Amino acid sequence: MKRVILAALLGAATAGCALSPTGEKTLLLNSASQMNTIGRQSFEQMKQQQPIEKDVQTNRYVECVANAIVAQIPPEYGYAPESWELVVFKSDEINAFALPGAKIGVYTGMVKLAKNQHQLASVIGHEVAHVLAQHSNARLSQQQLTQLGLATTSLILADRVDNGTQQAMMNALGLGAQYGILLPYSRLHESEADRMGQELMARAGFDPSEAARLWQEMAQQAGSTPLEFLSTHPAPSTRIRQLDTQAASLTHTWQQAQAAGARPDCDRLKPKQG
Ligand SMILES: [Zn+2]
Repeated sequence: MKRVILAALLGAATAGCALSPTGEKTLLLNSASQMNTIGRQSFEQMKQQQPIEKDVQTNRYVECVANAIVAQIPPEYGYAPESWELVVFKSDEINAFALPGAKIGVYTGMVKLAKNQHQLASVIGHEVAHVLAQHSNARLSQQQLTQLGLATTSLILADRVDNGTQQAMMNALGLGAQYGILLPYSRLHESEADRMGQELMARAGFDPSEAARLWQEMAQQAGSTPLEFLSTHPAPSTRIRQLDTQAASLTHTWQQAQAAGARPDCDRLKPKQG
């Protein structure tokens, strides 16, 4: 029996081997539609359990930035710009996430931390890039392999999930601390999301050099307050340097985008902070 399970798992693993958008080998055991379902279910649950920011100005500001970013997603990813749902959660938590199934969540704490539209665009671009590169699928696949249990895998595949399994899924999606987050994104996933996200922001007309400024700001804040975002997105100083280097190489892309008319003007909507 063990041998049968192992063979089946190896078969699944071989079938699931793929290349990420930037050419990294990655293991994807779940279909895109399965991941979309998990993403949508988790998002619904969060909307029921967490206070949502109703302030029109704040929502317009975040929407303005998010819309500009998702408009730049290449069509081959199969995410139409209008398919994305954005929710601003009312919480001092400095956090943001995006989920398969075209969902974006931004916490008001992050809206306050990001000094301008460019910095907020860098967070949203980074999170959307995690989705495009199927990082949650890769993480869930790793967990499934680690568990080495065909029963668990088939349970997940069958969409008949108990609480424990659902918890594992939410962990794989990288949701916040109150959802029992255990797994930080890997360094590889982080740098891939940085690269892709920064390119999205440059193509949308946001200043790519502001990405490094945002992470700097977060690293400084982390000294005094626990930062949920940093617990799932480790940001060593090497990474900030890399963002600066990439920003320089994206200057041309950014200028071209601006010349073509991509000049987002979301800061006029940014709520004043007292
Ligand atoms: Zn990340």
